[in-house]
Amino acid sequence: MINKILVSACLMGFKVRYNGSEKAQMVAQLVRWQQEQRLVIHCPELAAGLPIPRPPAEIVSADGKDVMQERARIIEDTGRDVTEHYQLAAWLALRTAQEAGCTAALLTDGSPTCGSQFIYDGSFSGQRKSGMGVAASLLIEHGIAVFSDTQVAELVAWIEEREN
Ligand code: SF4
Repeated sequence: MINKILVSACLMGFKVRYNGSEKAQMVAQLVRWQQEQRLVIHCPELAAGLPIPRPPAEIVSADGKDVMQERARIIEDTGRDVTEHYQLAAWLALRTAQEAGCTAALLTDGSPTCGSQFIYDGSFSGQRKSGMGVAASLLIEHGIAVFSDTQVAELVAWIEEREN
């Protein structure tokens, strides 16, 4: 059985980021996985109804797990509290992954939704901190292995180990 992978839509070249840009990483491996029909391309924020463009949002002094457990908030740089939108984005990512039978996710790092190695600290000053976004956190909690866009090699090894 092949392991299917939920992949951030912006990594696949879709211009769905807050500023209308993409973060395309169409490395050979991703092209191969796409040809093998392993990839489930998804943007949680778009699925939750957030527009393009949209104001940047950050998790305030916490991480995605705290947000999903109602211990922290996500705000836009305008000050608007968008916590519920991002919680919905996380649940929709999980539902999409589960319905498609994904065992892993390859997500864009740094995002308050998709980040897995780092996020921003909530000060909108470009300050990074280690931590996860809401979707990454929820996927892991439900047994889906999460890899960041800098961990394609690790994901390759993970899949080979499971399939060989
Ligand atoms: S929510 Fe994820 S897939 Fe959508 S733009 Fe942000 S990082 Fe990319």
